[in-house]
Amino acid sequence: MESPAVTFTLAYVVFSVCFVFTPNEFHSAGITVQNLLSGWLGSEDVAFTQYHVRRTTATLLVHSLLPMGYYIGMCFAAPEKQLYYFYAVSDGWRIFALFAVILPTAAGFLALYWSRKRWTNHPLARALAHHALPHSDWRIVVFSINNEFRRIDKFATGVPGARVIVTDTWVMKVTTYKVYVAQQQDIHLTVTESTQHELSPDSNAPVQFITIRVASINPNVRPFDIRLNSTEYGELKEKLHAPIRNAANVVIHQTLGDMFLDTFRTLVEANNVYEPQSNLELEPCIGCMQTNANVKLVKYCNEPNEGECQQCYCRPMWCLTCMGKWFASRQDQQHPETWLSSKVPCPTCRAKFCIVDVCHIR
Ligand SMILES: [Zn+2]
Ligand SMILES: [Zn+2]
Ligand SMILES: [Zn+2]
Repeated sequence: MESPAVTFTLAYVVFSVCFVFTPNEFHSAGITVQNLLSGWLGSEDVAFTQYHVRRTTATLLVHSLLPMGYYIGMCFAAPEKQLYYFYAVSDGWRIFALFAVILPTAAGFLALYWSRKRWTNHPLARALAHHALPHSDWRIVVFSINNEFRRIDKFATGVPGARVIVTDTWVMKVTTYKVYVAQQQDIHLTVTESTQHELSPDSNAPVQFITIRVASINPNVRPFDIRLNSTEYGELKEKLHAPIRNAANVVIHQTLGDMFLDTFRTLVEANNVYEPQSNLELEPCIGCMQTNANVKLVKYCNEPNEGECQQCYCRPMWCLTCMGKWFASRQDQQHPETWLSSKVPCPTCRAKFCIVDVCHIR
């Protein structure tokens, strides 16, 4: 025989844990602080920083009310305890009631303090102030972050309680109560750990998560860890300007395409280098428009008239990464073991080439 008080307690504990740590089911049902207060919080896309200043404050306030909710609920679930007569209740309950009142009061004062002077005291505002140039306003940093967050080319991943966002200038981690911010030009990234999960609900392949420590040379920025799926590692690397150190020699299970691209790069490094005629102007790669063309196809694998490969006479138009992606795109996805030895047509003139024929331009 379970009493209503026990049932209520169990239900409330489960609800509170789910409300604070928000598993996916709660997210789909919309039972999150973000959803309940979406009107006041505004839009993350329009004003990322202002949104998270409000969201962290609101989250703190709402979570601080949970003990009081329990006390009020118990007044109804266990009427025999007469919890509504504060002076008549047992010492244990009296302490809990005091705690349930003090917690939101303290959170309220903290929120009030944060909101003074247009939120200048909020931890996120303070963190951003460390990135502003001396004698300049932290709101310039706000402008930069909001602007870059709005762009579609940002890298964003992670569960709602620990999102990772990388833009051209910033690396950020958004958690329930806090937003970590570091500037790309100041940071060193190190892979510190990897964990393997045998099965994820979305797929039946094992999933690897890697932890990367973000340390800044800015003494005011504390190091923080970001976690992501290993298949997103290639995309993250592309968005970062600095290399990622792999101190723990973690073996990262990347996607087949990313792994191939790494191998392709290493193999081409060992190939012959193409020495251009004196004044060859290298134009941006026509595949990505991000870097200048830096590879040329020269038939080195065989004598000129032997073998399957042909000489390509195109001027350099592609970068190494795009050439690698092109090479991978022409392969049989079911048989990766044949990739390295295969021959593919030049993306422009269709002359066949193999990896040995891909030359870096000096
Ligand atoms: Zn390219
Ligand atoms: Zn060609
Ligand atoms: Zn060849």
